Amino acid sequence: MEKVIIFSAPSGSGKTTIVHRLLEVYDNFEFSISATSRAPRGKEVDGVDYYFLTEEEFLRRVELGNFVEWEAVYAGTFYGTLHSEVRRIWSKGNIIVFDVDVVGGINLKKIFGDKARSIFIMPPSVEELERRLIGRATDAPEVIAKRVAKAATEIERAPEFDAIVVNDDLEVAIAQTREIIDRFIAE
Ligand code: 5GP
Repeated sequence: MEKVIIFSAPSGSGKTTIVHRLLEVYDNFEFSISATSRAPRGKEVDGVDYYFLTEEEFLRRVELGNFVEWEAVYAGTFYGTLHSEVRRIWSKGNIIVFDVDVVGGINLKKIFGDKARSIFIMPPSVEELERRLIGRATDAPEVIAKRVAKAATEIERAPEFDAIVVNDDLEVAIAQTREIIDRFIAE
């Protein structure tokens, strides 16, 4: 059966690290490359990390109905999953792995229903999340403050996911995630 696994978390919860590890372990898992209207950062490559579109092109594709799901994750910056991306991965017989924000994750679960397992990666606490964001040293203090404030409202929505994994110890969190995924694959 065609399947999808959805990962969402507040920024700084370690979601991306967990997703990368799982992609190494399961060779029939494939990362869903989102489209975005933001500019590439650092070493990001078009068609690998994201499909980078201009805002105009992104909105034109919204009008054309090209998106499964899309959202302004940050004011004026759009992110979304193209129907063509879902077809691309399923046509190879692979399982789709989504790394999206919390609202996107809830929407994707509604869209894919039983074909989906949605997993919320939970930080041990908002205080710990703040410590990690400061330690990461990639964001300005006001950006961190915004992310921490957003995290509190995102955590409230965790019960809307199929499963919650607390990322206190990374290896434990990965093991728990694998159990959830193995059960889902066996269904
Ligand atoms: P960044 O700009 O740091 O790469 O991503 C910002 C946020 O957008 C992250 O939380 C990421 O998971 C989320 N995101 C990436 N792609 C999508 C998407 O297709 N849909 C939604 N709703 N969020 C996305």
